Amino acid sequence: MIEVSHLSKKYGNFLAVHDVSFSVGSGEIVGFLGPNGAGKSTIMNIITGYLSLSEGEVKIDGFDITRDPEKAKKRIGYLPEIPPLYPDMKVKEYLNFLFDLKRVKMPRAAHIDEIMEITGLKTHQNRLIKNLSKGYRQRVGLGGALIGNPDVLILDEPTVGLDPKQIIEIRSLIKRLGENHTVIISSHILSEIQAVCEKVIIINGGHLVAKGNITELSESLSADKTVSLCAVCDKAALKTALENIPGAEKVEEKPEKTKGACRFVITPKSGEDIRSAVFDAVVSLGGKILELSANAVTLEQIFLLLTENAENADAISMLKTTNKKEDETDDGDI
Ligand code: ADP
Ligand code: MG
Repeated sequence: MIEVSHLSKKYGNFLAVHDVSFSVGSGEIVGFLGPNGAGKSTIMNIITGYLSLSEGEVKIDGFDITRDPEKAKKRIGYLPEIPPLYPDMKVKEYLNFLFDLKRVKMPRAAHIDEIMEITGLKTHQNRLIKNLSKGYRQRVGLGGALIGNPDVLILDEPTVGLDPKQIIEIRSLIKRLGENHTVIISSHILSEIQAVCEKVIIINGGHLVAKGNITELSESLSADKTVSLCAVCDKAALKTALENIPGAEKVEEKPEKTKGACRFVITPKSGEDIRSAVFDAVVSLGGKILELSANAVTLEQIFLLLTENAENADAISMLKTTNKKEDETDDGDI
């Protein structure tokens, strides 16, 4: 269980994270989604105790990362954006080194063996890290995060720089790890989050702009989705009939290639489902529907809406957006 409340982080005068609160329950896989510079790594570095916080509170299984860092950190396995590997060590040697570093009190050989099994490193255990491909190096980083069997895994952009085959392998490995760990994984790539996570936390300009179940998030916005209609019907009469639907906000005519047919896009009033009324309007005029579809909101649209278009974003009640200007002031904290 991870509880982050009212977390803020300043680098010098630059507010990189602003009043962010969320919690991640045991066994959940949560995606941290946001464009580059959003503040994902900063938040992850604070959760893992690598970076101090300016304001707020972070608790891991009830242990405060500031007041009880040792107990909190024991519960966390961290894969930073650039895993700090020792290139001149062999894979197994490195895992043993971390075992000592973390002062793990588990049966050594069995534990290291299990980690190499899970991460698919057995065949590479005696290879020098510097000679491994990026995908295998990422597995070594993940293996390192698993030493001591922590409940919580924090993975910062774990598939960046991998080729498509390696991406699929690492994703499925993360999914498997999610079966018995609480996982936070960050990415600026939507498909990545969709492939691995059920829940998402969207960060932009240091603000949390949305959080929730991916399906629920798109459904909550889909209540306002537009309806596309293509019908063989008297155009002017149909337009009037559509405009007279009580739940319709706006009716727009669109170009249509099919001979004798016309096309409209109808925007409903907030929260209204107008599909059956649209159907009835065509039928009452003796027309024939060729196509009737509701344009569902994809995570991609939500993401763009929330991170690129602040005006649209304001329309969505769950939002707190900002147009923060980036600034590079290093306070030497890391
Ligand atoms: P993300 O991981 O989402 O790409 P980061 O957390 O790395 O974002 O960065 C958030 C913002 O904070 C960026 O604007 C970045 O330039 C700034 N930043 C990160 N680290 C430092 C630092 N040590 N000193 C000053 N600014 C920083
Ligand atoms: Mg980052």
